[in-house]
Amino acid sequence: MITDRYRRQTLVKELGQKGQEQLATKHAVIIGGGGLGSHSANMLVRMGIGSIDIIDDDIVDITNLHRTSIFTEHDIGKSKTLILGERLQSVNTKVRVRGINQKVTSENIWSFVQHADVIVDGTDSIPLRLLINDISLQHNIPWVYAGVLETVGMVMGVLPKKTSCFQCIAQNIPASRNQETPVLGNLPAIIAAIQCTETIKILRGRQPAGLLIYDIWNQCFDVMNIKRNPYCPMCGKKKKIN
Ligand SMILES: [Zn+2]
Repeated sequence: MITDRYRRQTLVKELGQKGQEQLATKHAVIIGGGGLGSHSANMLVRMGIGSIDIIDDDIVDITNLHRTSIFTEHDIGKSKTLILGERLQSVNTKVRVRGINQKVTSENIWSFVQHADVIVDGTDSIPLRLLINDISLQHNIPWVYAGVLETVGMVMGVLPKKTSCFQCIAQNIPASRNQETPVLGNLPAIIAAIQCTETIKILRGRQPAGLLIYDIWNQCFDVMNIKRNPYCPMCGKKKKIN
């Protein structure tokens, strides 16, 4: 039974009452609780995904505050997932929210994602994204990549073996040359919003849009339909002949 809480959202024909009820049965795992992950968690909890786990072993630092909206100065030094779990649970008690204060590794990732209907990328690490990509392909779990760098953000939903995977597009992903990734403070919120739309579309059984690229400084938005690379070492069927 859906309460009035979602009334304005169920009026959206792309979702509707049926879609809202479907979202309430789904489980999302968000890996990373920083600039992107905290915004995505906040939006997905409010939008009514059934249960959400947020995994991160980091603590809130003053340098996080310019690009997040949940954390305050009082949270500095505390576990990000502890804060997110408590605060977001109070936003929507109908959603089961769990903050898990652990580092995701190749050894433990399966234990976190085995019941996931979708994995939401809130990391800022290419190796961790490749790990998510690998577990997604192995166990047929869709995931939604998102990244931010300076004034540009990228989002791509991955349906394993159906759409291009992260490795297929990896050469197009710019890596930060700095030790600390430069990010304009308002960018993660908008990229997380796009990521949440792709997440909900996947949970509704819809096709993700492709690789979305948004430059917030120049107000340029592009969607690239990147085909699966048949020679992709992670999802391709063909072996490269040198
Ligand atoms: Zn691939």
